Amino acid sequence: MRAASRLEVLGTERAYLVLGAARRLEAAGHDVVHLEIGEPDMPTPPHVVEAGVRALRDGLTRYALAAGIPELRDAIARSLAGRGVRASAEQVVVTPGAKPMLFCAALALIEPGDEVLTPDPGFPIYESVVRFAGGRPVYYPLAQDRGFAPDVGVLAQRITPRTRALILNLPHNPTGGVATAADLAALAELAQRHDLWVISDEVYGQVRYDGRWDSIAALPGMAARTVIVDGFSKAYSMTGWRLGYGVMPAWLAEPMTTLVINNVSCTATFVQHAGLAALTGPQDAVTGMVARLRGTRDLLVRGLNGIDGIRCATPAGAFYCFPDIGGVLERTGLDCDAFAERLLAEHHTAVLAGTAFGPGGAGHLRLCYATAPAALERALGRLRAFVAGLTPAAAGLA
Ligand code: PLP
Repeated sequence: MRAASRLEVLGTERAYLVLGAARRLEAAGHDVVHLEIGEPDMPTPPHVVEAGVRALRDGLTRYALAAGIPELRDAIARSLAGRGVRASAEQVVVTPGAKPMLFCAALALIEPGDEVLTPDPGFPIYESVVRFAGGRPVYYPLAQDRGFAPDVGVLAQRITPRTRALILNLPHNPTGGVATAADLAALAELAQRHDLWVISDEVYGQVRYDGRWDSIAALPGMAARTVIVDGFSKAYSMTGWRLGYGVMPAWLAEPMTTLVINNVSCTATFVQHAGLAALTGPQDAVTGMVARLRGTRDLLVRGLNGIDGIRCATPAGAFYCFPDIGGVLERTGLDCDAFAERLLAEHHTAVLAGTAFGPGGAGHLRLCYATAPAALERALGRLRAFVAGLTPAAAGLA
C-alpha cells in the first residue's frame, strides 16, 4: 500500500521534531530549557476559559454554522478597526487556528504553476502549502541590517508574469521584523501594479513593542486583494484551543466556506464562544503579556550580544530572537544545524536552527522568549558554556 504522491511535496515544522527530541531527554531525567516552540507560556485569560466552560455547560456542543457563529464573525470584523481595517461579518471565515486558513487560502488562490513570493527565512508552512496547491514558492530575502523588514526593491525584482501572490508575515516569524508605514505603502503599490493577491499573516499583529498595529489591508484598494490570516493562539495564549480566521473580499468568503465544509465542517462551537469573550472582554492580558515580553526580549538580546561571535538585533515584534551566530560558526567550523543539535544534546537547551525557516536562515538560531526570565538566564548560561567549550579542535578543525 502507498499514500498518494501529492503528500511528498508537503513540508513540516522542525519545531515539532526538536520538541520530540527534547521530550525524550526529559523522559531520561534531564532538565531541558525549551526555547524551540512558538507559544506564550502564560495561561489563557480566566474570563476566556470561563466563557468556554460556560458554553459547554449551556449545551453549546453542536455543529456551528460553517463560516463561524455570527456573533464571533461580527466581533472579529469590529476588532479589525484596531489595525485600521474596515470589514463586515460576511468577510470573515472562522477556522480551527490560523494554519487551516493558510491552507485554505493557498488552495483557494493559487493555480498550478503560479509563483508565490514567500519570505526566506519564513514560517515553513507557507512554502509547504504553496507547493501543495501546485504553486512555486519564490523566496524574497529578509536581512538583519534592515531589521528583517521586506526590501521592496529586492522583492520587486522577483516578480514575473507568473507571479500570483505575495505572502507577508508582519511581525515576522522567525525574525520579529516589521515593516515601516512607507514599506507597507510600497508593497501595496507593488501588489496593485502587478495584480497580486496578498496573503497577510497577522498572527503576531498585537505583539509589537512600538505600540503600532497595522495591516496592508487598511491601505486604499488593498481589501479587494488581501486575505488576512489571523488567530487567537498568540495574543490570547490560546494555542491549544485552535481558533483562527481569515478576512477576505465578501465574494471569496462563500467558496472559502465551501472549502471549510469539505475539510472541518466548522470550528468547535464552545471554542468560538471563548474567542468571543477574548475579543469583547478586557484586553489587559494582551497588554500585560506584551509588556512582559519586552522585558524577556531585552534580557535575551543583551545576553546573546554578550557572547563573542553572536550578533542579535532587537526584534520589533513577535516573541523570537534570530541571532546571527556566524562568528561562532566560523571559529568552530560548525553549521547552525549542528550547533543547535549539540546545544540540545550536550547542554539540554532546545532552540531551532535558522535553516528550519529556509536557506536564508543559515547562520542563525531562533529562540522563543515567551518564557520565564529564569529559564532564559539558564539558557544563556548553557549557551555561554557551550560556546566557550567549542574550540576549532573540539569541532575537528585542529
Ligand atoms: N502563522 C505563523 C507565522 C505562526 O508562527 C503560526 C504558529 O506558530 C501560525 C501561523 C499558526 O497559528 P495557529 O496556532 O493559529 O494555527
